[in-house]
Amino acid sequence: MSQMTQTLTTTPPTDELVVPFHCDRCGALAKVRVVLSSGSDLVFCGHHAREYESKLRDIAVDIIETDSEAHVSR
Ligand SMILES: [Zn+2]
Repeated sequence: MSQMTQTLTTTPPTDELVVPFHCDRCGALAKVRVVLSSGSDLVFCGHHAREYESKLRDIAVDIIETDSEAHVSR
């Protein structure tokens, strides 16, 4: 009897934070990575993260500060 191995649909977040991201809006070094429920993500600098914060809270499943790697999702 063959046992099915667990299929992970989400990519492990470990190796994603080592890459320097740049803000989707202005190209500045990103401070925040926003993971969407669709599985894609957006990156913003501190300025734009604040500007879009209320919108991002609606659509994000996780908001990660790439600076401190702290999870700030609520
Ligand atoms: Zn920006």
